[in-house]
Amino acid sequence: MNDKAFNAFAMAQAQFDKVADFLELDAGTRELLRDPLREYQFSIPVRMDDGIMKVFRGFRVQHNDARGPAKGGIRFHPQETVDTVRALSMWMTWKCAVVDIPLGGGKGGVICDPHNLSMHEQEQICRGWVRRLARNVGPVTDVPAPDVMTSAQHMLWMLDEYEQIHGGKYPGFITGKPVGMGGSLGRTEATGFGVIYTVREALKELEIRPQDTTASVQGFGNVAHYAIRLYQQIGGKVNCVSSWDQQDQISYSFRREAGIDLDELLGITDRFGGIDKAKAKGLGYEVLPGEAWLEQDVEILIPAALENQITGDNAPRISEKVKIIAEGANGPTTPEADKVIEERGIFLIPDFLANAGGVTCSYFEQVQSNMNYFWEKDEVLGKLDVKMTAAFIAVSDLARKRKIYMRDAAYVIAINRVAQACKARGWA
Ligand code: GLU
Repeated sequence: MNDKAFNAFAMAQAQFDKVADFLELDAGTRELLRDPLREYQFSIPVRMDDGIMKVFRGFRVQHNDARGPAKGGIRFHPQETVDTVRALSMWMTWKCAVVDIPLGGGKGGVICDPHNLSMHEQEQICRGWVRRLARNVGPVTDVPAPDVMTSAQHMLWMLDEYEQIHGGKYPGFITGKPVGMGGSLGRTEATGFGVIYTVREALKELEIRPQDTTASVQGFGNVAHYAIRLYQQIGGKVNCVSSWDQQDQISYSFRREAGIDLDELLGITDRFGGIDKAKAKGLGYEVLPGEAWLEQDVEILIPAALENQITGDNAPRISEKVKIIAEGANGPTTPEADKVIEERGIFLIPDFLANAGGVTCSYFEQVQSNMNYFWEKDEVLGKLDVKMTAAFIAVSDLARKRKIYMRDAAYVIAINRVAQACKARGWA
């Protein structure tokens, strides 16, 4: 599936160009927004537990900060590339703009595989990443957060290093911190719950009741867990999930016609979202090839793993029954697959809208940190729902009025907001 020629940044630029043409954006603004404002690439030497020194490559890309400090997560992944980080930083700019929060777009990464690293080694990578960038990131310039294979613990190590270097307390430097250490209640749930707030609104528009739907989910990490939890709470049934198998280095799909039991599966899942195949079989799950999640006869597909998963090759295998695709992951759908989905009239909830709940809650975390007054979980999730629902309605109204694809409608709103900020500042 992970086509070697795939380049996430080329894809992000192609998506941008299509809408820039539609908007007849002037050449200067187009040039400014097509590429990141700043990027950093660096080495992080780490003394491993066995005493040997190992050097890890790290990245931070700040795509745009016209609307506020750059904002976005840090991924730990063995296949990380600077182009993927560039694409993800650009998507963060659009994500913050579409939900209308005063932040720009950034993303970071380290080429490493946390499956093979002790917690102590991961701590050294986190601290090394901050040491390299201590003067280029911060509460008023660029604010990192968790992402693929990084957690609240990683954020706390990074915060601690930043505070050691700068000599003070700077809780606004990073979000996704542990609750009680400057974190916000609801941040862990926010991305997955946000996906389902948008699914709920799409179902309303299609006049389908959640309890009459089933879903298939790709991925079994943080986003997938909370999306499944809330979707089941509103009455939906998930009958297939897929997860990465570290030993076999491929993913598998786990299906049970009667529906999956989230807590039961979580009980046989490692901390990276890998489900134990033998135990799953014992619990009555069929273990199928990795792409099977995409071929299920369900109303809703939720890709919540990585980029480049729904492609021109496999999109034709999406069941006729599918009505909604909600992109929990960043960049899961290639432009070739978009064509198939658009032609089929499937209701797409594009990534930077569907998964904007995480960064929206990060923004709430900043606000709470600044006031040093923390809200109850219901208050956080209530505010999150309001923001996500408003953004969804604005995008789907535009898509309907202008008869354009949902991804393009989201881009139109986001690019317009960022372009206006750049113009107002005299950058374009
Ligand atoms: N990593 C998340 C994303 O891709 C959250 C970013 C943040 O909270 O800044 O949206």
